[in-house]
Amino acid sequence: MNLENFVLGFFDFVGGIDFNIFGTLLFVLLIVFWLVLIGWVWIDSGERTSNISIRIIYLLLVVFLNIPGLIIYLIIRPSETIEQIYWADLERRYLKYETSELGDCSKCGNQLLPGYVYCSNCGNEIKKKCPSCGVMIGKSTKFCAYCGTQVASRSTQEEYPTIEVMEQQILATREEATETVESKRLKYKQSGGFVVKLGGMIISSWKRLFDIVSEKLEKNQEEKVEQKQQEVVESNTKKKKKKKRKKK
Ligand SMILES: [Zn+2]
Ligand SMILES: [Zn+2]
Repeated sequence: MNLENFVLGFFDFVGGIDFNIFGTLLFVLLIVFWLVLIGWVWIDSGERTSNISIRIIYLLLVVFLNIPGLIIYLIIRPSETIEQIYWADLERRYLKYETSELGDCSKCGNQLLPGYVYCSNCGNEIKKKCPSCGVMIGKSTKFCAYCGTQVASRSTQEEYPTIEVMEQQILATREEATETVESKRLKYKQSGGFVVKLGGMIISSWKRLFDIVSEKLEKNQEEKVEQKQQEVVESNTKKKKKKKRKKK
């Protein structure tokens, strides 16, 4: 009897549990998770960009799409934080300063060392004396950095390079750098993995396809222009013939 009562009691207990509680609990948990996601995206995007409108777009992605929105955000967010960019720039400036005197001789290619005034191999003049303060300054310097005297005239072309020209220069130097690194097989950095190579292949094949299509389009246009010219010539000759007939 006791066991029977116990089993019946247990079933009553299980049947009495309000399963809606689990539902509401799950719902509350989801809401909390969603709010945490939104907060995290707002803070993370603040570390990567100072543009408020872009940050709001990122936020809306997560507000409306939740986890898929987060995945999209993780893909499209700027890869470097503002702090990382700042430190990378500082490092670049410092390295530029440190290696400013470590160039090669423009005449013979001999490596120069800090403090050189003449090339130790060919005697090429690397530095000159400022006529005003006497400090040794670079040969291509336009204004003495120590007293401000103008040493050489500035060319007007150099002053305002257009954005396009600058972009081209940056691209060129990048391409040159990768070429030299890859041709000399210097292990500055490991070459790209499978994904990078696949991406490169896709992009290059896409470019080739685009070139072929644009070439064909150009040819078609040229042919059309030629056809039109021929038609015009033909119609002109017909008109002339007609006029001649009328005159007759
Ligand atoms: Zn030299
Ligand atoms: Zn000077």
